[in-house]
Amino acid sequence: MRKKLIVGNWKMNGSLAANAELLAALKAGFDAAQADLALCAPAPYLLQLQAALQGSGIAWGAQDVSAHEGGAYTGEVSAAMLRDCGCRYVIVGHSERRQYHHESDDLVALKAQRALAAGLTPIVCVGETLPDREAGRTEFVVKRQLSAVIHAVGHCCSEIVVAYEPVWAIGTGLSASAAQAQAVHAVLRAQLRAATGQAERNRILYGGSMNAANAAELLRQPDVDGGLIGGASLKAASFLSIAAAG
Ligand code: PEP
Repeated sequence: MRKKLIVGNWKMNGSLAANAELLAALKAGFDAAQADLALCAPAPYLLQLQAALQGSGIAWGAQDVSAHEGGAYTGEVSAAMLRDCGCRYVIVGHSERRQYHHESDDLVALKAQRALAAGLTPIVCVGETLPDREAGRTEFVVKRQLSAVIHAVGHCCSEIVVAYEPVWAIGTGLSASAAQAQAVHAVLRAQLRAATGQAERNRILYGGSMNAANAAELLRQPDVDGGLIGGASLKAASFLSIAAAG
């Protein structure tokens, strides 16, 4: 039985003062028996999370990582630096990075490889656009995206977390239905199983307008092992209700 993992993606939100308030409320309300919890914050706040969350049972991570090990890459943050800040997780291939920063499947795969080599768990995001879904290309797209990562990380595949995030559901208030999510999650698990011989350890999260009202039904699906939560992770009450729904 895989324990549910609920991950907050704060995106480019927060301030020292607002984070302190949110972290205090999350620590006060967190129940480790319900689900594993992690927060992916903007890089400047990772040390604040480390100071606040160490020993709390809540993990933290980043929203992106460089594909390079280190050196002359102005503005980038390496996997080793994230480990230095106590990160356990890093999101790679979020659709906002694929869309606004033109990240390719191969670049995302390199980032996942770097993360694993540094001892981080990559949360690999895959997901189709609305035109992809309408053209019946959902399965093709998510399998292509995951395949690049599987080939890059090889036998470390069982260490990755996958997040199925339909692009049309992110930040729109229009979540995938539980049946739509389950169908894609089953495809992704089958792909992992075919590549590595087993996929029972991999947690496959759903992301895209998950909230306190729709979480329980999504999390009840056999292949939905948690959630990657954007908007609803910025308020302690909604984020904790999602964790409790698992
Ligand atoms: C996300 O940013 O990964 C996400 C799922 O956002 P939201 O929950 O706001 O749709």
